Amino acid sequence: MTDSSHAEFRIVGGHPALDLVNTVTPRARGGAVEHEYLTSPADLLAWSRRIELIDLRDYSAIEGTWRSAPELAEKALGATLEIREAAYDVLAPHAAGVAVAKDGVKRSEGSAFERLMLRWSAAAARSMLIPDADRERGIAELVVGTSPAQLIPDRLVVAAVELVRAVELRQLRACPVEDGGCGWLFLDRSRNGSRRWCAMEDCGTRAKIRKLGERRRATGVLQS
Ligand SMILES: [Zn+2]
Repeated sequence: MTDSSHAEFRIVGGHPALDLVNTVTPRARGGAVEHEYLTSPADLLAWSRRIELIDLRDYSAIEGTWRSAPELAEKALGATLEIREAAYDVLAPHAAGVAVAKDGVKRSEGSAFERLMLRWSAAAARSMLIPDADRERGIAELVVGTSPAQLIPDRLVVAAVELVRAVELRQLRACPVEDGGCGWLFLDRSRNGSRRWCAMEDCGTRAKIRKLGERRRATGVLQS
């Protein structure tokens, strides 16, 4: 199920926790927000389906629960945004390409860890280890999110903790804000580690056009 209003919004993080971090533009600490992608529980539901955090069955269960208890939907959205900001504060200081507001992010890193841990332990309390004999690997399945109302933030915080625990630091990058990028975080999986922008078609092209304009203006000044 795709939502056309989300179609133009690129998914570039390479990990659900980074895709979550990238649901606001520009991605930074301080300064004006140009676009917030998660403004309502409905946005959150559509986005979660789009990044395949939830399947269709989860989708209907969550939608039904949220419809009968809108305050739980708002609570899930609030938890998601808290996890998003905590994940950003923990990850951003370690991302290549982050320059703007790095100090501000670094200062809040400690409390961000605590917020992630609290959310993660609540999610663990709503998880189940289900024995499964018909597996090639492992003997049980870990099901995160047994409560539909909180399923989305629960899965997101587990994903965020997994990333914090295991991220390949040389792959973690930010689209460079100081060069006109959006600050989104992503995993650079290119063989030579040469990916600089969230997406070349987006920020890369915009930066190129701007540079070209600056060069033309500079030349114009020299000629006059
Ligand atoms: Zn970008």
